[in-house]
Amino acid sequence: MNTRSSYAQPDAQGFFGRFGGCFISETLVQAVEQLNHAYIRYRDDPDFLREFRQDLADYVGRPSPVYYARRLSEEIGGARLLLKREDLNHTGAHKINNVIGQALLAQRMGKRRIIAETGAGQHGVAVATICARAGLECVIYMGSEDMQRQSPNVQRMHLLGATVAPVTSGSRTLKDAMNEAIRDWVGNVDTTFYLIGSVAGMHPYPTMVRDFQTVIGRECLEQLPELFQRLGMDKRHPDAVVACVGGGSNAIGIFHPYIDHSDVRLIGVEAAGLGLDSGKHSASVQRGRPGVLHGNRSLILQDRHGQVLDTHSISAGLDYPGVGPEHAWLHELGRAEYVGATDRQALDAFHRLSRVEGIIPALEASHALAHAFELAAGMSRDQAILVNLSGRGDKDMDTVMAQSAPPGESS
Ligand SMILES: *Cc1c(COP(=O)(O)O)cnc(C)c1O
Repeated sequence: MNTRSSYAQPDAQGFFGRFGGCFISETLVQAVEQLNHAYIRYRDDPDFLREFRQDLADYVGRPSPVYYARRLSEEIGGARLLLKREDLNHTGAHKINNVIGQALLAQRMGKRRIIAETGAGQHGVAVATICARAGLECVIYMGSEDMQRQSPNVQRMHLLGATVAPVTSGSRTLKDAMNEAIRDWVGNVDTTFYLIGSVAGMHPYPTMVRDFQTVIGRECLEQLPELFQRLGMDKRHPDAVVACVGGGSNAIGIFHPYIDHSDVRLIGVEAAGLGLDSGKHSASVQRGRPGVLHGNRSLILQDRHGQVLDTHSISAGLDYPGVGPEHAWLHELGRAEYVGATDRQALDAFHRLSRVEGIIPALEASHALAHAFELAAGMSRDQAILVNLSGRGDKDMDTVMAQSAPPGESS
């Protein structure tokens, strides 16, 4: 029975069914407990929520519109495509919603130093942005390999006054940066707040980040009835909601308010890379197995011995070997569906949206678009698909230019 209470998760220990929880070393217990108490204290605090909403309005530019992609919908000839324009937020993606929430919490807790890890650099830029605005010290851990691949974002963080700490251990990418950030946190608990960028990590992060990102879905819940009325459609909710899934924060943010509306399909699109059976992808829900990563139990891409596997995606933001525990749970319940879009499909969708609607999407969001286009073609004009356009594509220009040669001609 899909009652609200059946989705009122997680439990007090942070479990969504058998996923989630808090698997940490003794040294982290105090820091995590302190955070948990602070979050419980402030999550419903009227002053805290007022400040959060005000910042989202004045600084981020919320609410972001829902745009009916008319020309594209007519070209595809099926369901109407509605785009939630998170690309229009300050800094160009949804990540800032969560960063503002956590930075406010850090200030309430008296912490003046923020640390974070970043892979593609987008989360690092969002954190550096808010630290600049709030006058907080900011240290961003980043694999040295990633620093090379994402040098414009490294420059942005420097411009914003952040320290970017190169991580040279392991594969010199995101998971090594995560380890370094946690080490820092353990050593500096009294002064330092660890700001996680997706619905990952130990309890309470998956819940807290979700709560900050559900502003996306709550706005849609309010915006769509009026939009449907304008379009002469007799409905209040979309038939399907589609979002890309890396860690899963933009997806859970737009899904969450629709979970109780059981007639709305929820579809998460993972990066299928070179194909789900190629071994070169980031499809943790579809190809992962239960395991513990980053302090929570979820579906993880791992080998037979539990070694975390290297992932691949054309979009750096989806390149993560785990997924938020709530997605693992929604998958197990069958309430949300998880599918893949390949690098090639995402690139095609990237070009198509740019050409037909004049919107250059982030490559991450292009995965959601690719699936939505396919889905729409098999549906009818009185149906609608809501796609979370999680970010804008300026950051992906170099990647796209390097890849866009027809197959066989690329270097
Ligand atoms: C980081 C990022 C993502 C992936 O993160 P989620 O936590 O899965 O949302 C998706 N889209 C954009 C534009 C991003 O920057």
